[in-house]
Amino acid sequence: MDIFSFGIEFTDEVSCRVHFKEQCDKEGVICNRCGGSQHYWLKNKWAYQCKSCEARQTLKSGTIMENSNLSFLLWYKTFCLMSATKKVFSSKEIQRQLGLKRYEPVWAMVHKIRDAMGQRDERYTLEGMIEADEGYFTVEPSAVERGKQKAGRGSKSKSNVMIMVESTILEDLETGAIDRQCRYFKAKVLENHKADGTDDTIKNAIDGETSIVFSDKSTSYLNIADYVDIHITEKSSERTTKETLKWVHIAIGNAKRDLQKFHKIKRKYLQLYLNEFIYKLNRRYFGDKIFDRLVIASITATGN
Ligand SMILES: [Zn+2]
Repeated sequence: MDIFSFGIEFTDEVSCRVHFKEQCDKEGVICNRCGGSQHYWLKNKWAYQCKSCEARQTLKSGTIMENSNLSFLLWYKTFCLMSATKKVFSSKEIQRQLGLKRYEPVWAMVHKIRDAMGQRDERYTLEGMIEADEGYFTVEPSAVERGKQKAGRGSKSKSNVMIMVESTILEDLETGAIDRQCRYFKAKVLENHKADGTDDTIKNAIDGETSIVFSDKSTSYLNIADYVDIHITEKSSERTTKETLKWVHIAIGNAKRDLQKFHKIKRKYLQLYLNEFIYKLNRRYFGDKIFDRLVIASITATGN
């Protein structure tokens, strides 16, 4: 949804609430006391009342907005900003756009939305032919890391990220030229450069039964072959960059470029920024629908 259409549809707090309630009803409201799914709507209180146990819950209850004091209108404006462009907005910029004095609530809201985006994408696994490679993203070293770090060596301020993409080989019947078409992407921050943990991360991201994974030799410490149909590794070369791992390399490059403007991403928040980047990338053909999808993601995500 572009900002002009947003301004016409969502003129005030009530219009946002009405839209949000419609989406909640579509998804199904679950009582947080007894698990019941039948509710009365208490119009004057903007709350649901469970038909079995009479427990009441607000519209925000059970959604990522649950503990937020920000209005629905502010949340909706943020959904609009975060879905209107391919760029990843900084919380500072969103704070400026919303005209709010305090930074912390905006920061918390934006991170919750990024978390909801990640949870949404976790519902899907990649299948078919998959390119996989690791990218090293610059992060702000923690105080402990800074203490340990030797002068001139920045390796401690890199975070290891596994990027995967479904990539179908297309052959031009006339020329015989081979190209690859990409579909869905995933990006996972890896805890360390070891197989344990990392293997699980990839296992959960891929439908192993149907998948053929392409990677270069740098991922040889992983046991990918154990849980996918076929794992093909190739020594890094110009060919792997331009052909076999074309899309994964493009994604790593774009993600790095997009995240570069956040000068100090802490290691523990890197996944959240990647969530937003990947969420938008996976919905690059959604157009206007991405706004509604983001509202639904905010309802179905589990808060923390
Ligand atoms: Zn109940």
